[in-house]
Amino acid sequence: MPVNEVLRLGHPVLRRVADEVALDDFHTLEFANLIQDLKDTLVEQGGIGLAAPQIGVSLRVAIIEIEAGLTRYGELEAMPLTVFVNPKVKVLSLDTAGYWEGCLSVPGMRGFVERPQHILVSYLDAEAVSQTIELTGFLATVFQHEFDHLDGKLYVDHIRDMRLFAYEPEFDRFVAPQLDQE
Ligand code: ZN
Repeated sequence: MPVNEVLRLGHPVLRRVADEVALDDFHTLEFANLIQDLKDTLVEQGGIGLAAPQIGVSLRVAIIEIEAGLTRYGELEAMPLTVFVNPKVKVLSLDTAGYWEGCLSVPGMRGFVERPQHILVSYLDAEAVSQTIELTGFLATVFQHEFDHLDGKLYVDHIRDMRLFAYEPEFDRFVAPQLDQE
């Protein structure tokens, strides 16, 4: 399967509200190809998640894969690569926390964004079966970031203090050492 180009900030498809996937569209070759393209592109580009609009397909589909390990934001539990179709996010607590987010569609940049930290996600899996998953902390942020792509939003829209927006090398040099001290 070809690896797709990831669209970058400024491409109008990233700003479109994506269409829901109809039940008839599951179990089609196009749908299988879309999932495979998303997987191949995520593996090639690296990263935690990828949404269909980022490869130019305006449908409400995203994939997320969490590798276990210790991060700046604590110990993460592994989540195998999972397909989310037509996801809906319910915020369970308005308590927020901020993280330095990055995005394949905004390469080379990091920005500090605060989001709710306890959410319930309802979605259809790749077989069109209804599922729910409850998320807290950094993972709640990851899921909201990915699903924002389905509504034409990017993390940069949520940066409230533009002083907390940086190129990655400068982030690594000046910001990360302070975070790691905390
Ligand atoms: Zn993104």
